[in-house]
Amino acid sequence: MMPRGRALGRDDRALVRAAEGALRAGWVEGRHTVAAAVRTRGGAVYLGLNLNGTNSPCAEPVALGAAVTQGDRAFETMVAVRRRGDRYPVLSPCGTCRQLLYDYAPRARVIVRFRDGRVARLTIEESLPAPFGSFDEG
Ligand SMILES: [Zn+2]
Repeated sequence: MMPRGRALGRDDRALVRAAEGALRAGWVEGRHTVAAAVRTRGGAVYLGLNLNGTNSPCAEPVALGAAVTQGDRAFETMVAVRRRGDRYPVLSPCGTCRQLLYDYAPRARVIVRFRDGRVARLTIEESLPAPFGSFDEG
């Protein structure tokens, strides 16, 4: 059953706005079309843009890498946004990015957008109920 999630708090809304700001500043058609923001337990926010090229990492690992580069791995909440005209709606992180967040911070949270447009905050385990590593996968 699909989890309902929880309403965004003030910090979550600020994180969405931070991702939006990064995309407004860095958006390049065909190159940088998604931005991610990750907040760590100390309250720091790290930003990333997707890199569209021969290999095209999502924005989320770029943001996580920015945090790790600063020695901060205490990931708390992650969000991504894309551009739709003048709006910057939340884009739910893909399964690979949710798994990556889980690998580093299994108690972290992720902000998602449901198909009906509702935006909510889920735990990583709610969003990825059987992450890689849950079974004997060799
Ligand atoms: Zn992804």
